[in-house]
Amino acid sequence: MDPKEFPFIIAHELGHTMLYRGNLPHDNKNGNDSFADRYALRFIFEYYQTYDKETLDYKGFITKYHIPDRVSKLAEHLFKMKAK
Ligand SMILES: [Zn+2]
Repeated sequence: MDPKEFPFIIAHELGHTMLYRGNLPHDNKNGNDSFADRYALRFIFEYYQTYDKETLDYKGFITKYHIPDRVSKLAEHLFKMKAK
């Protein structure tokens, strides 16, 4: 596990907690893991928008916050929505 990915991983685990109130199912059959991934991405994106004064495109955001490839399309979408 790469320590640089800890913020995303912690936010992902928080996503599970928000969905199941302490129970942390990691099965992806019901979309639990993709829910947790989306939660984590939005959580970090919210932090970026609120506290990070650096203007980044979505690729810069992914690099800086070590966002996993599996949610890069969603990150691109968030930046497109922000631009509107
Ligand atoms: Zn998970």
